[in-house]
Amino acid sequence: MKKREFTQQEKDQYKAEKAAQMETFKTQCEQIFERLTERLKQGFSEELLAYLKYLATFHQYSYRNTILIQMQNPMATQVASYQDWKKRGRQVKKGEKGIRIMVPCTRKNPTTGEREMTGITFGTIFDVAQTEGQDLPTLAREVQGNFSHADLQTLVERCGYPVHFSDLGPDRGGYTDGKTIVINSNPARQPTPSHQTRTLIHEMAHCILHFDGVERSKEEKELEAEATAYAVCAHLGIDTLPLTANYLHIWSATAEDLQKAVSRVHKAIRGVLQRFEPQPEETPNAAD
Ligand SMILES: [Zn+2]
Repeated sequence: MKKREFTQQEKDQYKAEKAAQMETFKTQCEQIFERLTERLKQGFSEELLAYLKYLATFHQYSYRNTILIQMQNPMATQVASYQDWKKRGRQVKKGEKGIRIMVPCTRKNPTTGEREMTGITFGTIFDVAQTEGQDLPTLAREVQGNFSHADLQTLVERCGYPVHFSDLGPDRGGYTDGKTIVINSNPARQPTPSHQTRTLIHEMAHCILHFDGVERSKEEKELEAEATAYAVCAHLGIDTLPLTANYLHIWSATAEDLQKAVSRVHKAIRGVLQRFEPQPEETPNAAD
């Protein structure tokens, strides 16, 4: 069969539609951050906390794409492209409608040989509920329920930093110099492996975000580390305390500030979970 040729007019129309949809997506993202900021100013943080958990669940996607996923399929729990599902032994069920996300178009630079970004297009992904086939082993499933010392040990081994346990008294959970992590073993401060895990993730977030030589306030750093620990623990099903709400007012300044903060926390969440859940990263990535 002869391939259909598109007229210039059709091509232009397609381009215009794509650009319009891209604009709509961007506006919707901005509106969501404006609403989250308003809610924070009024003292409500539940929506933001739910969104942070969502960021952890879909950490391999950009934070804007997590919003697109949430808008189109709020019940989604695990997403991948048609091909990626196939590689994991699962098939997208007949008639399922995909979730549209933004993905970067790249091409190989003929001079340098490196891949460079040329623009943004749309990609389609599917939630696990839209697929059938082999079961998927995940760490989240492994550690759900009673989180034990053995689980903590597994995470310590995977975290990518040397970790030491030491009695630091009752006042602090742990500390880091950006290279090594020390966790308080004092049972008065950290009675369960869940508490120590939360500290481990908190310190990992400091390592990922706060040793780049840029001056930041202590409050800002602690909030970013706490938000990361909260989101990752919630994602892994580890029962821990909620995010310290007193810090959250820093984020309610402007929607733009909140978006920047979320993008940094997203970076830390991704950094932590890529170590905890080693998987090939083949999914379409950041289109921020
Ligand atoms: Zn800290």
